[in-house]
Amino acid sequence: MPKNIKHNPVEQAESILKHHKNLFGNLLYTEKTTSSVVKESETNYSEEWASATTLNDLNDKICNCQKCELGSTRKNFVFGSGNPKADVMFIGEAPGAEEDIQGLPFVGRAGQLLTKIIESINFKREEVFICNILKCRPPNNRDPLPNEMQTCEPYLQKQIEIINPKLILCLGRISGQTLLKSNETLTTLRQKVHTYRGISLMVTYHPAALLRNPHWKRPTWEDLKKFRALYDEMKNANK
Ligand code: SF4
Repeated sequence: MPKNIKHNPVEQAESILKHHKNLFGNLLYTEKTTSSVVKESETNYSEEWASATTLNDLNDKICNCQKCELGSTRKNFVFGSGNPKADVMFIGEAPGAEEDIQGLPFVGRAGQLLTKIIESINFKREEVFICNILKCRPPNNRDPLPNEMQTCEPYLQKQIEIINPKLILCLGRISGQTLLKSNETLTTLRQKVHTYRGISLMVTYHPAALLRNPHWKRPTWEDLKKFRALYDEMKNANK
């Protein structure tokens, strides 16, 4: 029997919570068979930026962040852009090379494709809000490290709180897994409408993945049609 297996139920619970906290910080989540539900964070942010009530104020307060090592390698901080009162948010993973140069999200080739994706379901780019989980570019576009995501994610949570969208579309597996605190595959995440802090959330392919593999455009289109239908349903229900 391995030494680290706990026999006492209290010790077992403490061990599970410790692992959960190491992985996800103070964010608690539950998961259902048909949809996953992320509950309100219990994190009580005491830092100054947490008092921001507008996106501009938040940007001003966090744009010089050096909380993780990406702060020292970025050219520009990439807050996000779009309508501060957007009904719909598109959330990717991290800035790439062009985004790092311009300080804007999704402005490279993948960004041009994202604009087409947004327009394909009858939104205009300027009426939605686009951002990433990480605000600084990982060198050479490597995958974000768990500690970088955990350190930066509260900024995204604050953006979502201020914007208060009706719907979120996560672009790619890492975005979906991070927001939903899930280890499920992209295929599985795509099959459900999730709830993130009371906001409906769907997951689809990242535009950069579609550039690498055009065969994923068809399933992405199916996701987008569902996303638009969900939005229309919600708008009609609120009339
Ligand atoms: S990635 Fe996020 S946490 Fe890291 S330095 Fe940039 S803004 Fe700060």
